[in-house]
Amino acid sequence: MLKAKNLSPQKLAAFTALVLSIVAALGTMFIDPSFKTVGIAFVLTFLVAYYLYLYTLQNFIYRKIKLIYKFIYQTKATKREDFFNKNILPLKTIEEVSEDVEKWASQKKEELDNLRRNEAFRKEFLMNLSHELKTPIFAVQGYIHTLLDGAMEDPTVNRMFLKNATKNIDRLCRLLDDLDEISKLESGEMTINAEIFVIQDLIRDVFDTLSLKAKGKEIKFSIKKGCEAPVQVLADKEKIRQVLINLIDNSIKYGKQQGATVASIYNLDGKTLLVEISDDGIGMQEEHLPRVFERFYRTDRARSRDIGGTGLGLAIVKHIIEAHGQTINVRSKQEVGSTFGFTLEAVRE
Ligand code: ADP
Repeated sequence: MLKAKNLSPQKLAAFTALVLSIVAALGTMFIDPSFKTVGIAFVLTFLVAYYLYLYTLQNFIYRKIKLIYKFIYQTKATKREDFFNKNILPLKTIEEVSEDVEKWASQKKEELDNLRRNEAFRKEFLMNLSHELKTPIFAVQGYIHTLLDGAMEDPTVNRMFLKNATKNIDRLCRLLDDLDEISKLESGEMTINAEIFVIQDLIRDVFDTLSLKAKGKEIKFSIKKGCEAPVQVLADKEKIRQVLINLIDNSIKYGKQQGATVASIYNLDGKTLLVEISDDGIGMQEEHLPRVFERFYRTDRARSRDIGGTGLGLAIVKHIIEAHGQTINVRSKQEVGSTFGFTLEAVRE
């Protein structure tokens, strides 16, 4: 039995020509039943029908389908294309061709959507960036103009204006540092120099570094009871230091006066460690949680800027953790506090 699915154009033409020539031969038999006439009618009909049909198939259908595939796969005349045209294409049914085209179209649509998303992302980033740069620059400009316009001679304000200008310059520098860091992370330039170290030692180090800042708000640092036993991890120590600095610094910035920042360490399955930094500060509404790791996202712009935030700290943290092949998450409740947790590779003893 001939399977329509496996017919090449030649076979299809031959099959159709055969059917037509049989009909023609039968018809001729009624007019002139001689073997010669019937034979000639059969052969002639077969040949004419075969070449006509083959020509039509090749030129109007098969060639166009080949063109479609050339376009879809963007192939140049290569051996692979020849092989495809000779061996694979003839076996395809029209339904399969249409499936291939649909698959290709949806893949292109996805690519296009991705490009559009990236474009929107880029536009938003540029808008945010120019806004972030404008605020401190305009402030500095304002202070300098006021000083030049006479305030320089007024001893009651001149020092204060200069100090405020410096504060804004410092903010610009912090922003540029963070931008530098994030562009390095995003361009994939970051290399992970993994080493083995005790996570509690690093946490205590960071507590020391930030102790003066915590004192200002009388915030107490501690490692949760039961989590003090030293645990070794395999990670880039300096990058994880950066993660801890950003998270613990946030726990102070968004922490309450006389609050507490607690670090907890849990061994999940022998291979993975969960490190959590919790505070009892202002917390966040649930709707903000999925977005806090985005660049420049803040739950309260004014407050973040007032306390010197660049809006990039958590984006940097997420990049570093993901570059380690690990994950980060956040739980938070407004007026109760926040917990940021990230995983690390534990070293088996
Ligand atoms: P910022 O420089 O503004 O602190 P981050 O990327 O570090 O930028 O944080 C993004 C936003 O997430 C902050 O502006 C703040 O609204 C919120 N946030 C981060 N950490 C905390 C926290 N511990 N408690 C409450 N809100 C937080």
